[in-house]
Amino acid sequence: MSTTTSADEAESDARDSALVTARRQLERAATHVDVDPGVVERLKHPTRVQQVSVPLEREDGSVEVFTGYRAQHDDVRGPYKGGLRYHPEVTADECIGLSMWMTWKCAVLDLPFGGGKGGVAVDPKSLSDDETERLTRRFAEELRNMVGPTKDVPAPDMGTDAQTMAWFMDAYSMQQGETIPGVVTGKPPVIGGSYGREEAPGRSTAIIAREAVDHYGRDLSSTTVAVQGFGSVGANAARLLEDWGATVVAVSDVNGAIYDPGGLETHAIPTHEEEPEAVLEQDVPETLTNAELLELDVDVLIPAAVGNVITADNADAIAADIVVEGANGPTTFAADAILEERDIPVIPDILANAGGVTVSYFEWLQDINRRQWSLERVNRELEEHMLDAWTDVRAEVEDGGLTWRDAAYVVALSRVAEAKETRGLWP
Ligand code: GLU
Repeated sequence: MSTTTSADEAESDARDSALVTARRQLERAATHVDVDPGVVERLKHPTRVQQVSVPLEREDGSVEVFTGYRAQHDDVRGPYKGGLRYHPEVTADECIGLSMWMTWKCAVLDLPFGGGKGGVAVDPKSLSDDETERLTRRFAEELRNMVGPTKDVPAPDMGTDAQTMAWFMDAYSMQQGETIPGVVTGKPPVIGGSYGREEAPGRSTAIIAREAVDHYGRDLSSTTVAVQGFGSVGANAARLLEDWGATVVAVSDVNGAIYDPGGLETHAIPTHEEEPEAVLEQDVPETLTNAELLELDVDVLIPAAVGNVITADNADAIAADIVVEGANGPTTFAADAILEERDIPVIPDILANAGGVTVSYFEWLQDINRRQWSLERVNRELEEHMLDAWTDVRAEVEDGGLTWRDAAYVVALSRVAEAKETRGLWP
């Protein structure tokens, strides 16, 4: 007899690592695809995970050693691809789980990349700019043998940005003896970055939210939206949806949410990058906690901050009609099942926020060709890629009666598995 209570289960669900969630999702998806079980077994494990020590001289002259990681999940379709995050809770398991999601994300968008993810367990708010630069340069050096434009191409993620990528690219290039912009994406345009890259994950989240609203027979002009997180993903998604006619009733940052049933002016609210943690300083009728924002009765809920925010504890209280995942892994495996039971569609991260890595792909192409695309071209091609992926996933939802997450996994897993079966197992 099991001694596990449902309260224990709910608590463990909220604590599940990205790796536990990613493996469960893969096992579930594999039941919907005709795929060699050996391939699924291989995909449960990353190719390699590197742990490095990153010593940093602090401003007071003392030395502190941080731990960094790079997980490389799979590269059967092309170089490993995925962000580097600076966050106190970065662990090897988190990086592995997130790297698995990158494999699927790149495959859903049919990009010639595999999946990687890394980071340093550090609170970026505790570092001065100079310290962040020194930490980044040393981290780049520690990862130098495993990254490169044809091997593994990092990008920004939580706690890192275009400037972090510029330092990483410079450190790598200085040691290699030549300028190699394609080693990372998400750089400033002046050194080989792409126009539109910063906005891309938010733009794709907005595009997918717009398509989902249309799919369920509604009109954006009569759609209410709540967005958790006002960083690059949340702010850009909120602003675009407002521009396209939706009413954004609530947004939040780490300190809490602001709420106006008549609609917020999202362009007037500074993003986290423009002015950190400024959301609650806005002059609006009502403030809420982040937990209350998630339970608002809106048409579309966009969790665009951290992972594991919709859990077995609050999934029953979610009142939105559609959830669109702007963050990576905001919904736990158990919460997914509850939302499915309640007929609340969840459009998954590996589709919705995939605009980031899609424009990273455009940036990588621009770097290889030493040619810059216009913002108009980037946004036009992003729109095309997102609509193609949306159509592929929607076909699986409609034909197979699958959830949106299962459908996205089926598209991704079929592509990755076919590549693996075609290449075979060496030796
Ligand atoms: N960190 C982003 C993500 O989770 C972007 C990755 C990339 O551009 O390589 O999708």
